[in-house]
Amino acid sequence: MEARAGFSKHGEDWLPNPKWIKVIALTRFDTLIMPPGTIHAPITVTDCLFRGGMVMQKRFMKDTMRHWKFCSQFPFCTNEKAPKQTRSVIDYLERVILANPKEYGYGDDFDPALFKDECKRISAVALSCSCKSGCTGRGCSCLTYGQRCGAGCHKGKVCSNPCGVHETGPPAPSTPLPAPTPARIFPPRREPPPILPPGSVPARLV
Ligand SMILES: [Zn+2]
Ligand SMILES: [Zn+2]
Repeated sequence: MEARAGFSKHGEDWLPNPKWIKVIALTRFDTLIMPPGTIHAPITVTDCLFRGGMVMQKRFMKDTMRHWKFCSQFPFCTNEKAPKQTRSVIDYLERVILANPKEYGYGDDFDPALFKDECKRISAVALSCSCKSGCTGRGCSCLTYGQRCGAGCHKGKVCSNPCGVHETGPPAPSTPLPAPTPARIFPPRREPPPILPPGSVPARLV
């Protein structure tokens, strides 16, 4: 928890406690499998060809959803943008998990209303369109990715997206959205002062 708090605050500039850092050296034909939400930073020390992918496992879905929410709340903690098809994937997962939460790693404390709200928050930051002509043509990015329009689309104007439920406006008043996270501002990096030979003066003072 402590690590995640620091990471969510500083993103890629986070300096973790050294005792938490484990170095895993991968060599030819190695496969590294990381559980959902593993904070990691790959370093390539030689030329190499590397490929990765993501899989979801039923028994880890609770963790997967928790970390997916984390990435949508703190987008600077990942180097990947929200997948364009996020809303359609979340809609699917929401449906199957609500039907059988235990199978997906949730316990007796599973709260369907809270879970639905979290799904809504994740898909709210996904791709949205700004169509003015009803979302029936190729110009609609939501339709292109086979997903329904979301709360962030076309400011609630007319929508006939054939991909399903059209949802306009923010979530119901009982589940207010959190205050928007202010955009992260990176301070300009300060160059260290030049090291000058003894006796010399910086050029600007000459
Ligand atoms: Zn559209
Ligand atoms: Zn849309």
